[in-house]
Amino acid sequence: MIGATVLGPLVRAPDGALSFDEPVDLLTYQRDCSAVAAGVATQVIRPSEATQIAGVLREASAAGVPVYVRGGGTMYAGGVNPHAGGLVLDMGGLDRVLDIDVERGVVTVEPGVRFGTLAQLLTPLGLTIGIVPSTAPSATIGGAAAAHALGTGSARFQSFADQVVGLEVVLADGTLLRTGSAAARDAGFFHRYGIGPDLTGLFLGGDATLGVITKIALWLHPLPATRATGCYGFADPQAAAAFLSELQRGETLQHVWYASGYEAGSVRARVTAARPDIDPATLPGFCLGFDYGGEAGDVTQARDRVLATAQRHGGREFPLFNELYFDRLRNDQIYWYSFAGYFSRSRCGILMASLPTARMPAFLSVLNASRAAEPTLVWGGAVVVCRRGLHGGVMAFYDEATQWPAAQAAMQACAAALREAGCIPYKSGKMWASEVRRMDSYHATLRRIKAALDPAGILSPGNLGL
Ligand SMILES: Cc1cc2nc3c(=O)[nH]c(=O)nc-3n(C[C@H](O)[C@H](O)[C@H](O)COP(=O)(O)OP(=O)(O)OC[C@H]3O[C@@H](n4cnc5c(N)ncnc54)[C@H](O)[C@@H]3O)c2cc1C
Repeated sequence: MIGATVLGPLVRAPDGALSFDEPVDLLTYQRDCSAVAAGVATQVIRPSEATQIAGVLREASAAGVPVYVRGGGTMYAGGVNPHAGGLVLDMGGLDRVLDIDVERGVVTVEPGVRFGTLAQLLTPLGLTIGIVPSTAPSATIGGAAAAHALGTGSARFQSFADQVVGLEVVLADGTLLRTGSAAARDAGFFHRYGIGPDLTGLFLGGDATLGVITKIALWLHPLPATRATGCYGFADPQAAAAFLSELQRGETLQHVWYASGYEAGSVRARVTAARPDIDPATLPGFCLGFDYGGEAGDVTQARDRVLATAQRHGGREFPLFNELYFDRLRNDQIYWYSFAGYFSRSRCGILMASLPTARMPAFLSVLNASRAAEPTLVWGGAVVVCRRGLHGGVMAFYDEATQWPAAQAAMQACAAALREAGCIPYKSGKMWASEVRRMDSYHATLRRIKAALDPAGILSPGNLGL
């Protein structure tokens, strides 16, 4: 913040790493895309090697200096916001694609590599990492891994974390840890599960509380030979949830790369904006969009099965929504909710939650109750279909200058209501911190692991309620 007391560097910059501490240069490091309050760091270090990070963490641990880690800063959970001050590690300097091993089917990257950059390299090889966010140009692979982002991902691939083969992580004492098969000397990354428990999982969703990720290995998949999209309308969320549950019990979803559901308000807004002649009362009460991929025969068979299943639950094809909206997502490779575009116009408080499919109506009731309780905010919501269960997002768009207190109170109330409805926090950062603290033995165990790996408590204080 301009005008803040200038303290000077807190930690010596390692050779070859960029370090700065001018308040004006620190401005962009105050927050991410979330509605979580900003923080003010005193120093930023941009390393280009893992060994430099080891040196920084050793020194910060000895001096008790908080260290936050920033990838693209596009997350909506406040994980990068330096609430306790201290220094920010800008991972943008570790941005090399290290290895595309077609034989093993594994790509290894440094954490600062952007999704868009990687896709540009893999597409000509007919390969993909399967899950790509709408923030592909700016979001980093390391940020997505550490925040367990993109779990909104895919009916086919489930979650981004499931695509991780192994990691290299620097711990608070400077130890360089490799997980999965790469834990064994000279073996390299080819398998997530080596001897003993899965240490990779400790850092996926860890939000930089347990270590700094310096390498990520991901599975490679062939790009599908054929793609197609389809939308299906249902009378209400109950019928749509029953349809999804039936699909999730079967095998058809292996040919669905992405699927998401849109509540009545979103459907009406999308359709009537483009076609004011259509009576909103004739539109479905809930709509699901499917993005199919695979060999041509598999895609045809999956589409037929999905339609037959939808019809058994009173659903019907809804080609207009596909034409106006959903198919464009596929063409633009934007695998996200209908709301991403609004981020450019307004700040958004967003609460992500995982839920069993049968709870979808309850999830949408929370959204509607929040909308009724705080009508001055613009509310939206959607679900993304996983192999099992759903990821849901409730979004509250607000004007930061005038509606900050109202938005904060509304999000708190909504978070509590989602929990009551049986939804669990997802992508926590600082957004869900108080809810994570309520998970008694889980959080107590997390604290014990944190105490063992980061005894000085320097890594991202506040994230995950730690
Ligand atoms: C408009 C918009 C659209 C989005 N679209 C999608 C979408 O399609 N699908 C989806 O699931 N999500 C989406 N997101 C959120 C998405 O999760 C982020 O875009 C992205 O994955 C986070 O990457 P990042 O590099 O920006 O992470 P950051 O915001 O920089 O960091 C996220 C967390 O990871 C930590 N971190 C970063 N790098 C490291 C590292 N190397 N080691 C340890 N910890 C680290 C940070 O401290 C922080 O806690 C969207 C967000 C916005 C605003």
